[in-house]
Amino acid sequence: MSQISADIPQPIRGEEGGPDIGPRNVELDRQNPDLLVSPPTDSGTVPNLKFSFSMAHNRLSQGGWAREVTQRELPIATTLAGVDMKLDPGAYRELHWHKQSEWAYVLEGSCRISAVDQEGRNFLDDVRKGDLWFFPRGVPHHIQALGDGVEFLLVFDDGMFSENSTFLLSDFFAHTPKSVLAKNFGWSVDQLEHIPEREKYIFPGQVPPPLEADRVVSPTGDVPRTFKHRLLAQAPQRFPGGTVRIVDSSNFAASTTTAAALVEVEPGGLRELHWHPNDDEWQYYVSGFGRMGVFASSGVARTFDFQAGDVGYVPFAYGHYVENVGNEPLVFLELFRQPRFQDVSLTQWMANTPPQVSADTVNVPRSLIEALPKTKRSVVR
Ligand code: MN
Ligand code: MN
Repeated sequence: MSQISADIPQPIRGEEGGPDIGPRNVELDRQNPDLLVSPPTDSGTVPNLKFSFSMAHNRLSQGGWAREVTQRELPIATTLAGVDMKLDPGAYRELHWHKQSEWAYVLEGSCRISAVDQEGRNFLDDVRKGDLWFFPRGVPHHIQALGDGVEFLLVFDDGMFSENSTFLLSDFFAHTPKSVLAKNFGWSVDQLEHIPEREKYIFPGQVPPPLEADRVVSPTGDVPRTFKHRLLAQAPQRFPGGTVRIVDSSNFAASTTTAAALVEVEPGGLRELHWHPNDDEWQYYVSGFGRMGVFASSGVARTFDFQAGDVGYVPFAYGHYVENVGNEPLVFLELFRQPRFQDVSLTQWMANTPPQVSADTVNVPRSLIEALPKTKRSVVR
């Protein structure tokens, strides 16, 4: 009988639907009210646009864990793939490289990161909550948590990326004859007695010394463009319903393949109706509760619900909005496999078109169209 108690959501919309009296996962129904009871404007078939990191396999190691949401978990997400990783204080994500570029955002805590480019130019810095980094594809790097540990989001510019198939230093050593290693480094085979037999990946370590004590001076100098950007410290664009911080190759020159916006929507606010004229959008929800509606043309639309730790996706050119449906700020990242962030505002388009055209199209008084703001208001309320 508990299946029809008042606090359990039921698939009923006015005269439509009826109680669910069979097997069900009530927790998921609670988290996805717009799937259980869609707004009547939803119509047709839209591919799944949501996957939570909480539904992803978590790879546990001594020193931390990592889980990924890729095209394998969310098949429509072909442009980008994400990894959520935690390192305990002092723990390493070992020296490695990969075929994809790596864009990262620090969610909690702090870590030290290093990279060396093809000219031997090096990079070393500490990043903390709200900072991001970018490593170009093929450039080797490492991550080590500082004294407070760290959790971060990694975003790779290929939906089929896997965190489990990167090129690891320990793995390279384990699969190269010791005679070759010895010759390569000018060491003796005896000195290689304790090299790892397999990859280490994430493993415990000591919290590193102050940054300057860890610095190596390369004869070719530092990397020409820093791989670190302090996104949360960046002055936001302020709008009536919240803020937006855009980071792309225009203000973070190293990030040539990934553009992002950190969006904060106040309670009651709305990331306005818009679309992106250049690519698909990959989203990560940092905090709060949001509802996204997507319009796919041809009379097709669907609504999805998101909370912290969820990944969302919007196919190229689909119209969409994200509404804060909670009573705390909604914070999320919009990411694109592009050098520049671009969006088209529905309001700005209509406001800068001869007003009679829009008035005749949507059957509202011309005066309403004429009163629309002609500058972009990305977040309204
Ligand atoms: Mn990496
Ligand atoms: Mn968008």
